[in-house]
Amino acid sequence: MIEFKNDKARETYQNVDDRLKCAVYECSKWCDKRKLPFVITRCIDEMIPGVSKTNIHADGRAIDISVIHWTTDDIDDFVYDMNELFSDSIGAYSLTDKKPRFVVYHNAGAGWHMHLQVRK
Ligand SMILES: [Zn+2]
Repeated sequence: MIEFKNDKARETYQNVDDRLKCAVYECSKWCDKRKLPFVITRCIDEMIPGVSKTNIHADGRAIDISVIHWTTDDIDDFVYDMNELFSDSIGAYSLTDKKPRFVVYHNAGAGWHMHLQVRK
């Protein structure tokens, strides 16, 4: 089940890229099978000065997911499985290695989370 951390996440989710919404639905079903919470914390948002490296959130092509109550195995499996499913077809191209990548587990300054992203 898709949940939202707050009203801003819920409201801005309506306008994210349709390819991203389809993939997010599959991600949420993966989490349902494991009985993991699937909480969207951020969708369309301004760039954060000094933290954001791209405008991908402002563009509606990325969302963030909380990993609260997930185990290390859950995190590793999610990154592996969802990248296998979606990176080649819709994943955004990494700034560092130029490879397409749908899921990035990272801490860009606001805590560790899953960043899901699609290309232009
Ligand atoms: Zn993000």
